[in-house]
Amino acid sequence: MNAADLKNIKITGGYWKARTDINRTVTLTTEYEQLKITGRYDTFKQIWKEGMPEKPHYFWDSDVAKWIEACAYNLIHHTDTKTEELVDLIIDDIEKAQWEDGYLNSYFTVVEKDKRWTNLLIKHELYCAGHLIEAAVAYNEAIGKKKFLQIMCGYANHIDSVFGPEKGKLHGYPGHEEIELALVKLYKATNEKRYLKLAEFFVTERGKQPSYFDWEEKQNTGLLRYNRKKGTTKPYSYVQAQAPVAEQTAIEGHSVRALYYLAGVADIAEHTGNMDLLEACERLYENMVNKRMYITGGVGSTPDIERFSFDYDLPNETAYAETCAAIASVFFCNRMLNITKDGKYADTMELALHNGVMAGISLDGTEFFYANPLATDTRAVDEETLEFKAHMGYKRRKWFGCACCPPNIARLLSSLGLYFYSYDCNGIYINLYGSSEFSHEGMLLTQITNYPWDENIKIRVGCDGGCSKKIALRIPGWCRKLSIRIISRNVSAEFKKGYAYLERIWHDGDEIDLFLKMPVEKMQAHPHVRHNTGKTALKRGPVVYCIEEEDNGKNLSSLVLRSNDEFQSIYDDNFLGGCVYLTGPAYRLSEKEFSGMLYRPYSPDYEKVEIKAIPYAMWTNRTPGDMLIWLNII
Ligand SMILES: [Zn+2]
Repeated sequence: MNAADLKNIKITGGYWKARTDINRTVTLTTEYEQLKITGRYDTFKQIWKEGMPEKPHYFWDSDVAKWIEACAYNLIHHTDTKTEELVDLIIDDIEKAQWEDGYLNSYFTVVEKDKRWTNLLIKHELYCAGHLIEAAVAYNEAIGKKKFLQIMCGYANHIDSVFGPEKGKLHGYPGHEEIELALVKLYKATNEKRYLKLAEFFVTERGKQPSYFDWEEKQNTGLLRYNRKKGTTKPYSYVQAQAPVAEQTAIEGHSVRALYYLAGVADIAEHTGNMDLLEACERLYENMVNKRMYITGGVGSTPDIERFSFDYDLPNETAYAETCAAIASVFFCNRMLNITKDGKYADTMELALHNGVMAGISLDGTEFFYANPLATDTRAVDEETLEFKAHMGYKRRKWFGCACCPPNIARLLSSLGLYFYSYDCNGIYINLYGSSEFSHEGMLLTQITNYPWDENIKIRVGCDGGCSKKIALRIPGWCRKLSIRIISRNVSAEFKKGYAYLERIWHDGDEIDLFLKMPVEKMQAHPHVRHNTGKTALKRGPVVYCIEEEDNGKNLSSLVLRSNDEFQSIYDDNFLGGCVYLTGPAYRLSEKEFSGMLYRPYSPDYEKVEIKAIPYAMWTNRTPGDMLIWLNII
């Protein structure tokens, strides 16, 4: 099925309207201020000289590009001349910064002028190019201004003249993937086949032996190479280049790179019909969701170079689970969903969105998490016992030296509608639930719901005369009880791979009522996840819950649940921007008999208490403190 056009989709109410409105009205402005303060906004002016502050960094272009992309999507439905002006000013700078041969990179133009394309493993040139291409495509599609797209076509043509399988070209590929999926977008925007061929080259060349990165190192001695701990360089699994993707059996290395790459692999599989690539995507997806993904949809277990570690290694307090990785998972899963029409990909996408992604931004839209741990003891963070502290913590930050996450979440939220709907020649697919409208070929579908807090979703059909398109409703994998009624009558539907297909002649004003029962579930991790043995996590629908110090005091790990106790779900419009929180009984291990001792013979003395759990995505929006997702259970 096809991804819908954002122009035909509007988020109209409920949870996602609130979050996307804040993104548009607050987040983009705060991010612009940070881009300006840190020198990124003006980086394409190319005025930096040795000795000056704000030395451009080799990934700065990508931060600016993601912000432009986010602005572009917002301009589709919201005229904003000030933002448009700010974007146009950067595009003028970008145009001036482009070399005669099409090359374009603000770092290599002023900092390492004679080093273009010499360190693909580390220096992010192709990654930055990819983000600039994505931004240019989005800006053109949003408001029809072609200048940026033309600049980026010039750059893509240059890249095509440098890289490829032909003799005389570099047989290299980026250390940080991104250009692959961007070139496919450029191909779709321009219909220029050589962009697709170049993307295919980058996808399939990766991992071939002998390694390009070995060759590169020999050509250019003294290159910066990561050298922290194991698995960093050779055999290049850190950058998914340990083998061609068609031969890979597990998702490895840097989690954002792995998932941007797989998004590109899925694109190439779709456009070339290469089944080996599609099978690789499916295989690595299964490895990820069944052995390497947090219950929040976050991925990347270790801050040691922000990577996947090994099967069932999912530590909570030191989880990295970078916001960008959850976002990249959404990108990848959405592509796989559209290729396969299999709702399992939408399940993973929804899980990541509601938990691993949204934990990355504060409710007021001004602060961000880079890493998203599943448990926090503030003392451990304050004592600096956590590795890679710059990205870990229990307070969101306004910005980061490596600022990939803030503009990434902004562009995802401003294009969120894309993930709600798809279509094919037979009908329309509703992939995600939330108040919204989708118009397609004479039909207008209107969702009215306060999902994920509400179990009911009303879908109103608008059309002129009778319309026979199928409407496919996604039935989430977590849902065990549901009902579907059309015009207040129960109907039977054809259920296939996570969708209920409704087929009839639709008339204007027809209403579908979908009910997805959302009991509070006590979840259990696979026994091989050593960190969660004897523990449970509370989940309701797609939303994972956590407990916070603010509601439940310190020493959260001394709390124990009982398997038969029930939890209540309560919606409060005035709590954390409006959400369902949970309350229920727990048992706190008593300290009384310890009398100051550290150890004593085992004696299970508990005090009964009432605990309150909040959506994990909303943690640390009040007083920052300890947090816990996985609770003891007996
Ligand atoms: Zn990031």
